[in-house]
Amino acid sequence: MMKYKKFSLIELLVVIAIIGILTSILLPVLSKGRQKAFQVSCANNIRQIGTAAFMYSEDWEGLFPFDYSGDSSIKALTKNGFMEPSLGNWVPAAAQCPMGLDVSADGWKSNVAMNWKFDPKSSFNTGSDFFLSSGTGSSERMVYMDSYNAWDNIYKGYFTTDKIFHSDKKTRIARHQNKANVYFQDGHLAALSGVTLLTFASTYDQKFWRNDW
Ligand SMILES: [Zn+2]
Repeated sequence: MMKYKKFSLIELLVVIAIIGILTSILLPVLSKGRQKAFQVSCANNIRQIGTAAFMYSEDWEGLFPFDYSGDSSIKALTKNGFMEPSLGNWVPAAAQCPMGLDVSADGWKSNVAMNWKFDPKSSFNTGSDFFLSSGTGSSERMVYMDSYNAWDNIYKGYFTTDKIFHSDKKTRIARHQNKANVYFQDGHLAALSGVTLLTFASTYDQKFWRNDW
C-alpha cells in the first residue's frame, strides 16, 4: 500500500495564496469579457430596432416610425407589428439594455432612445420625416442609441450631458466601458465614447444629436 505524504500547513497556505493571486489576475479579465458581451448584446438589440424601423419606413413611404398619438418611435414599431412587445405595454425586449435599468418593472420606459429630431412634432425637425436615406450626413446622423429615459411614455432622446458619465452606472449613457451604442441613419452601428458624445452636445437644443442636416 502506498503511503501519501500529507500537505503541511505551510504548503497548503502557499497553494491557497497562489490560487488567490491567479483569481485576482483572472477576475478583471473575465469581468471585461462580460462587459464586452453585454455591449455586443445591446448592439444587437439596437440594430434590431433599426432594422424594424427600416422595414416600417419601407411600408410607409419612407416615413420614420413615430407614434402620432404622442408617444414613441419604438411603440410605433410594436403597435404596427414590426416588433414583439414582449416586455408589455408595447415595449420590446430589444429596448432593454443589459447594462441599463430594468425597464420591465413599469413597462413604459426604454433604455434606447431615438433622436428627437426625427419627431415630426419636434421644433428641431426641419420638416424631414423621411427615414430611408443614404444622403449627405446619413452616416453621421444618430437615430437610436443607448440612453436612459425617465419619462413615461416618451422614448425620445431626452438627455443631458451629465447623464453621459452619470455616477449611477445604470442610468449613465456611456455605460459600456465608457461607450454607448449608436445606430446611424445609413444603417451602421458604432460604439461611441462618451467623450465623443460630449462633442456633439454643442448647444442645449442639439444635445447628443448632429444638427447639420
Ligand atoms: Zn447598452
